[in-house]
Amino acid sequence: MNMQPITEPQADRRDERTTRLFLSPPHMSGKEQEFIRQAFDSNYIAAVGPMVDAFERELAEELNVSHVLSTASGTAAIHLALRCLDIQPGDEVWASTLTFIGSVAPIVYERARPVFIDSDPKTWTLDPALLSEALATAAGRNELPKAILPTDLYGQSCDLDTIVETSGRYGIPVICDSAEAMGTVYRGRRAGSGALMAVYSFNGNKIITTSSGGALTSADEKLIRRARYLATQAREPVVHYEHVEVGYNYRLSNILAAIGRAQLRVLPDRVARRRQIFQRYVDGLGDLPGISFMPEASYGRHSRWLSVITIDAAQFGADFETVRQALEGHNIESRPVWKPMHRQPVFSGARTIGGAVADSFYAQGLCLPSGSNMSQSDQDRVIEIVRSLSDHV
Ligand SMILES: *Cc1c(COP(=O)(O)O)cnc(C)c1O
Repeated sequence: MNMQPITEPQADRRDERTTRLFLSPPHMSGKEQEFIRQAFDSNYIAAVGPMVDAFERELAEELNVSHVLSTASGTAAIHLALRCLDIQPGDEVWASTLTFIGSVAPIVYERARPVFIDSDPKTWTLDPALLSEALATAAGRNELPKAILPTDLYGQSCDLDTIVETSGRYGIPVICDSAEAMGTVYRGRRAGSGALMAVYSFNGNKIITTSSGGALTSADEKLIRRARYLATQAREPVVHYEHVEVGYNYRLSNILAAIGRAQLRVLPDRVARRRQIFQRYVDGLGDLPGISFMPEASYGRHSRWLSVITIDAAQFGADFETVRQALEGHNIESRPVWKPMHRQPVFSGARTIGGAVADSFYAQGLCLPSGSNMSQSDQDRVIEIVRSLSDHV
């Protein structure tokens, strides 16, 4: 991929009455329409075609992985991964509790049982020590899970090598949910690399987007071949539509793959810009008592897909919800940290291992506007509003 200089959007003043500042809006490069035009010219207005093939090749190159299937969404890719592992009703799949519902909903599609694991306070991602302890206990009871599904959170990789090593001792496969971690580095590799399978998302709010879309990757060709078959209605390779299994319509459209090809070319620029935005928040808010920032783990490079702070209300002088509403009053979108899965009514019966760490992030966490196309003056406005609520200015 060709590196582009970091472009800082110009500092035109946003009109708060009419223009909303979104948390993480799409940021087009300007090259998308040319790729879309090529897709139209070829008349592959379908879920197959040259753009899909090229996007998968380019993704493989970007992620340095041998096999890639592009999908209609990240959620679809996770569902396919679970199907490839032959997860059965009643099987346990252990997942991060601090994640987005799309990570774990596919466990329920297969009538399997999610078990939620707490976060490591140092990284906010799945706690490998807790996992190790819980697997030892489960092994003693002969109740091991069929898969481990950790999430790379907000652009921070989980400690994948440790998780894979621990799970490997029991022969349990790891699916890495890297939906939020395109462009993230883990121990010099791309996030997700080292898991049996990894999943990425190109939803509209992610660091690069195809409007909707995702990918499933693996070093194992057989797994991706099986996922491709399941994603294409499980069609047998004969002309008369023969089916011995039920599959899905989960392929990425050729038009959306065209958008993805243009977006992939600006990924390094997008990561650099998001990290720059994060640093500006640190510079603008870091001196305020009660404000802390999501840490960057020593083993990798956080993409800062979202800039996340925690607010200690007693020290700061206001809680995160007061800050959120103040920003909302200026037509600025910010969001609480993901509500942990073990707090979700739909999972009220699910087993949880720990949970207090994720709860504390949910009680104090706020995701600030992080779009790579946000202007400096807009970011300064966010900083100004947050500062105005501090007891100490
Ligand atoms: C966005 C996301 C997904 C789902 O991706 P979609 O493309 O929206 O289906 C899964 N897991 C996490 C952690 C996500 O943030």
